[in-house]
Amino acid sequence: MNNIAIIGPGAVGSTIAFDLYPKYQSLLLLGRQDYDLTYYANGNTKHPYTLTVSSLKASHSKIDVLIIAVKIPQLESILPKIDDLIHDQTIIILAQNGYGQLSRLQYPNVFQAVVYISGQKNGATVTHYRDHKLVLQDAPQTRLIKKMATNTDLNIELTSDINQAIWYKLLVNLAINTVTALTRQTAVVLQTPGIKTLCQQLLTEGVGIAQAENVNFNKDVIQDIMSIYNGYPNEMGTSMYYDIISNKPLEIEGIQGFLFNKARTHKLFTPVLDTVYPLLLAQQKY
Ligand code: NAP
Repeated sequence: MNNIAIIGPGAVGSTIAFDLYPKYQSLLLLGRQDYDLTYYANGNTKHPYTLTVSSLKASHSKIDVLIIAVKIPQLESILPKIDDLIHDQTIIILAQNGYGQLSRLQYPNVFQAVVYISGQKNGATVTHYRDHKLVLQDAPQTRLIKKMATNTDLNIELTSDINQAIWYKLLVNLAINTVTALTRQTAVVLQTPGIKTLCQQLLTEGVGIAQAENVNFNKDVIQDIMSIYNGYPNEMGTSMYYDIISNKPLEIEGIQGFLFNKARTHKLFTPVLDTVYPLLLAQQKY
């Protein structure tokens, strides 16, 4: 379990690397090419650290634990390299938002992580704001991952129901990512009359889709998520907001698109989702 690699030296991947480095100095942080990344930990922009990024293309090491932390639209581009990096026992962790991508990794020992790490990458600089947590399904392999992370700042939480954890995060992402991306505004958009109602309507549809998939939440879940949104500072952006203002591909297919397709499968009436999903697709420049 000593050979660890992380593909995707972004906000999430570099934070996982930064947390594990003190214990695993040989860890590989793999990106598009070799370069030095400036990393600010826990919102402290006074103290830069340098992380070494190595080229994924040039890497041929055999890895025991492979953590994939690229965004959903970028997953396709790294798939051809995985065979080079793994052996029969390699544990692969997909550290992404959204749902439905795990089936693209046709390997044994593959697990979806629900990511609670907040940060932002700009050029060759990552600013980590807060949190160091990955939630994984409790299994013999993930217990090894938890053991690997002991005595580091990375918090591995194991759950008996990863499906519920993924759906909860999906719902949290659904409404706030949609309204911030479509309006190209930070969380301040919640102050616009009608936007909170729109969020509640989207969440209601999302909870209905979850229910059709046999994922049940208690009756307070929408209010809980609205309370999370109400706690966001006005200037806080979401990942879909940052992606859209930077003209980057959006993670629509793993969030709104995933839910839209599930709603069709279950023949559900989801008028708000049916409106925002094509509007988001129309924003894509790709
Ligand atoms: P990110 O900052 O954009 O990082 C992705 C990294 O992957 C970038 O460094 C990118 O390189 C690299 N990459 C892309 N394609 C590559 C390729 N073909 N070869 C090598 N490297 C490649 O993304 P993130 O914010 O860390 O997000 C990762 C996942 O975690 C997403 O699903 C996101 O929704 C989720 N998440 C993020 C946060 C957050 O606060 N950031 C919170 C929770 C969950 P370039 O920089 O060169 O493009």
